[in-house]
Amino acid sequence: MTPESVLHHTFGYQQFRGQQAEIIQHVLNNGDALVLMPTGGGKSLCYQIPAIVRQGVAIVVSPLIALMQDQVTALLQLGIRAAFVNSMLSNEDARTVFGQLRRNELDLLYVAPERLMTESFLEFLNKIPVSLFAIDEAHCVSQWGHDFRPEYRQLSILHERFPHIPRLALTATADELTRQEIIEHLQLQQGKVFVTGFDRPNIRYQVVPKTKNPKMQLLAFLNREHRNDTGIVYCLSRKKVEDTAEWLQQQGWNALPYHAGLETAVRQKHQDIFLKQESVIIVATIAFGMGIDKPNVRFVAHLDLPKSLEAYYQETGRAGRDGLPSNAWMAYGMGDIFTLGRFIDSSDASPQHKSLERHKLNAMLGYCEMTTCRRQALLSYFGDHLPDPCGNCDTCLDPVPTWDATETAQKALSCIYRTGQQFGVNHLINVLLGKLDEKVQKFQHQQVSTFGIGKELDEDKWKSVYRQLAAAGYITVDVEGYGGLKLHDKARPLLRGEQTLRLRLDSYESKTARPKPERPKFIGADKALWAALQAKRKDLAEVQGIAPYMIFHDSTLKEMVYYRPGTLQELRRINGVGQLKLERYGQQFLNILDDYQDIPDQHNLMSSSVAQNRLSETVNLTLEAFKRGLTPEQIAEQRKLKLTTVYTHFSELIAEEIVELDEIMLDDIEIAEIEETLLAMDDMTNLKPAHEYLGEEYDYGIIKCVRANLQKSM
Ligand code: ADP
Ligand code: ZN
Repeated sequence: MTPESVLHHTFGYQQFRGQQAEIIQHVLNNGDALVLMPTGGGKSLCYQIPAIVRQGVAIVVSPLIALMQDQVTALLQLGIRAAFVNSMLSNEDARTVFGQLRRNELDLLYVAPERLMTESFLEFLNKIPVSLFAIDEAHCVSQWGHDFRPEYRQLSILHERFPHIPRLALTATADELTRQEIIEHLQLQQGKVFVTGFDRPNIRYQVVPKTKNPKMQLLAFLNREHRNDTGIVYCLSRKKVEDTAEWLQQQGWNALPYHAGLETAVRQKHQDIFLKQESVIIVATIAFGMGIDKPNVRFVAHLDLPKSLEAYYQETGRAGRDGLPSNAWMAYGMGDIFTLGRFIDSSDASPQHKSLERHKLNAMLGYCEMTTCRRQALLSYFGDHLPDPCGNCDTCLDPVPTWDATETAQKALSCIYRTGQQFGVNHLINVLLGKLDEKVQKFQHQQVSTFGIGKELDEDKWKSVYRQLAAAGYITVDVEGYGGLKLHDKARPLLRGEQTLRLRLDSYESKTARPKPERPKFIGADKALWAALQAKRKDLAEVQGIAPYMIFHDSTLKEMVYYRPGTLQELRRINGVGQLKLERYGQQFLNILDDYQDIPDQHNLMSSSVAQNRLSETVNLTLEAFKRGLTPEQIAEQRKLKLTTVYTHFSELIAEEIVELDEIMLDDIEIAEIEETLLAMDDMTNLKPAHEYLGEEYDYGIIKCVRANLQKSM
């Protein structure tokens, strides 16, 4: 058996990715290694293939007890002999596993570090052939990271007790400090370090400034780009997790909370639903995610700022492991800067640790405020280099204008100074705007020299200025936590006019609709076939109680739609169809492919829906004409109706889910523009304001269609 043959035969993949082949060869030559690869890069294959090729069992150390079952299930689907032992296993099942180990019947064993480190377990391993040790999530050894597991520190014993067995440490956390800690604590000094490019080109990074209602911003984002997708929303606190999940549920989304305060059973259930079902949104604290390898997570949204770029990159990295277009979206505001700053200040960590955390937070803030390519900045932070702007982040797609804010910043800073460095941003803005409210009168702030000197900007613009000054460190917040702003020493040269400053010109709502990530979109017969394949996969998964992606990934089903294999041999050539899956499921998928081989388009499939619906006759006449292939314009012409009327018919057909919005030929950008405008309106029943806002560019009937589609998903 060679690594290539296992790759083709067992996994059904055509070629190795990146450095996989080298890493595998290195392990087969008895070498130790540290493998740094981004999430979704394909780390698992680096130990799974040597585990199959070499004699004996590979011991995989993982901190993720709750996920071992899923990992093993996925391997069994591929025909790989795998098992796990952890505290969740009954004694009887554990005995079975030890029996298999003794009889050399396993290629891979997943085990929690605390279990592995028991004397009896180590003794046992001495008696059986072990092919290698894989230490997954190796950054858990780092005391500075947020995933620190003390048990990981003891893993250095492996080197002492089993000096001749190769060890492979794997992680997606890349920074230099963590890397050094892993090498030191796992005694990998003799090993080779493999660093794979950290870029995740299919992930689109976006950061938007928070408005007063970030939840609405999230909703607009979901409506615009992720109607039926699976994704993760991260919040800082448990309470916010619960509120947000509940609110999303009220808006009609399938959202579930996940945080460490929930009962284990509930947590496990939510995780399970997320893994096994589609179109599920998990709203979670950072307690959720490590080791989650659901391949088709289409977005990761942050409603609060992560503590560091490492955390951000790890969390956003959970999107798009299948390589298809995905979004990393974040709403960020001044409150985040202060909340995280206070966390650091009030913790009882050593001054050294605090200063490191400050440093990391500043890097995170710098990233949020960028006006140049975000991907270039991210990669350079991780020591990687991207020569050209990526073209797939918000700053690339929608270049951010900057303005000379020197004078404005001076006003903002002196207002802090003149009012005694003890007031929060709202009050300061009231003073600048010259608002004589109660608080201003109470403190006699109409007397200070900055009163009313800032009328040229509105409240949102001033907020943006203060946020950027805080992010850049010109302003700090009081430690007592009342939100009073103070000047940092750094502000002096700016106040004295010795320095100039440019700031970003924020746009709060992205009115300029951006192109959506290009998703392969199936239409006509392809769409029906895609749905049929997914349904088959779901049935097969349900019978076995496993996640659909364990049968085939989305990317595999998509290839089936593109290539339309007609025989088992052809099917075998699809990426992700290995030998065992071919035998088990091949024929069933071929049957479906057969059924769709010569169906020209989906309108035929739906012809029976005419006259069975409860729509009026005139609407059904429009539907019939549409099915004959006429465009809305042609229908209007033929039926001597106004175009608005025809589109109004379509809006009814869309509401009844008989026709889909994208079938009536609006393009995605136009749809997004209309949707965003509608969502920004208080009242969607009155379309006049939206019509005007859009420059009267769209027919009322078209706006009605978009509205019908929006309301359908609300
Ligand atoms: P991670 O590095 O996050 O552990 P995985 O090992 O889970 O990543 O791999 C990510 C995805 O890529 C998985 O769905 C895996 O099956 C797939 N994959 C890995 N290597 C290859 C390859 N050589 N060809 C095709 N797909 C691959
Ligand atoms: Zn970019």
